[in-house]
Amino acid sequence: MTTPDATKKTTRARTKPPAATAEREEAPSKPGGAKDVILEVDGLEKYFPVTQGILFRKKVADVKAVDGLSFSMTRGETLGVVGESGCGKSTTGRLITRLLEPTAGKVVFEGRDITHTSQAQLRPTRRDIQMIFQDPYSSLNPRQTIGAIVGAPFQIQGIQTEKGIKRSVQELLELVGLSPEHYNRYPHEFSGGQRQRIGIARALALRPRMIVCDEPVSALDVSIQAQVINLLQDVQTELDLTYIFIAHDLSVVRHISDRVAVMYLGKIVEFADNTSLYERPLHPYTHALLSAVPVPDPEREKTRERILLTGDVPSPLNPPPACRFHTRCWKAQEICKTVEPPLLELAPGHQVACHFPEERVLV
Ligand code: SF4
Repeated sequence: MTTPDATKKTTRARTKPPAATAEREEAPSKPGGAKDVILEVDGLEKYFPVTQGILFRKKVADVKAVDGLSFSMTRGETLGVVGESGCGKSTTGRLITRLLEPTAGKVVFEGRDITHTSQAQLRPTRRDIQMIFQDPYSSLNPRQTIGAIVGAPFQIQGIQTEKGIKRSVQELLELVGLSPEHYNRYPHEFSGGQRQRIGIARALALRPRMIVCDEPVSALDVSIQAQVINLLQDVQTELDLTYIFIAHDLSVVRHISDRVAVMYLGKIVEFADNTSLYERPLHPYTHALLSAVPVPDPEREKTRERILLTGDVPSPLNPPPACRFHTRCWKAQEICKTVEPPLLELAPGHQVACHFPEERVLV
């Protein structure tokens, strides 16, 4: 068994991942160093049909997992996506990486509409958008060596590297703080944090431009979480990566994100830059989520206000009408049950979908 100590303590002095020799367009950049838009999502929806019947199955309803998301991201940015289980955040990640086909809406990556492109046409884009999965235990094939797992993207895309795939994989292992000697080992020989590093190495293999990190640290111990987050930040700086960071832990998202989208039952209810969202949240749901995050100051922890949400998240099969949060909101009034609040910009870059946004500042 390889112990966590075998992991290199620092990942800063590293080489870039190997460049594939196959021809590749350079990332478009804007003159004057202005940040350019890398991703645009417009009206994205994913409805999963619910069917009934044995011989003749017919659709009786839809599970509205994602229901009309619109946002854009600039190159090098990290967008945190938070919300309770079942709010549609992982489905959003899978729609952007095209692991799922959207029901409606548009995904435009680097100016190319990839919403309905065929798998063959999507092949070059697959190199640019990669995913890191939540569970480092089930996302690695236990029968394959680390070399085969991390080298798989090269094999699948039919890419040769200048130094050969084996050397390239070993460089990737070094990049994520593992040893090149781990090449011939199997996933069961590694700890959870090391396995997630292997997943990160695999995601970096083809030098992507964007990575969707789907709860990458949720299954790890707190101390290991910090190491993996630091690694993600290091490689982002080195490789100018754009991240969508999906999590239910708001303190983790605060640490890594530039902007944050709060989701509730398939919709974005608040969208803001990191500081505004954490210091002056406007949506009651965001207030409730933040009030549940422990603070490391015992005096402040004793005095601060706690908002306890009652009940579970309603089913996305039959979401409440108008404001979907009204069944759990302490501020709900009649209009909340009849008129859906639009996502409006109430301060520069700070959007919220609520008829009665909060005015209190969190202490
Ligand atoms: Fe609460 Fe009404 Fe705002 Fe919905 S619109 S979050 S029910 S106050």
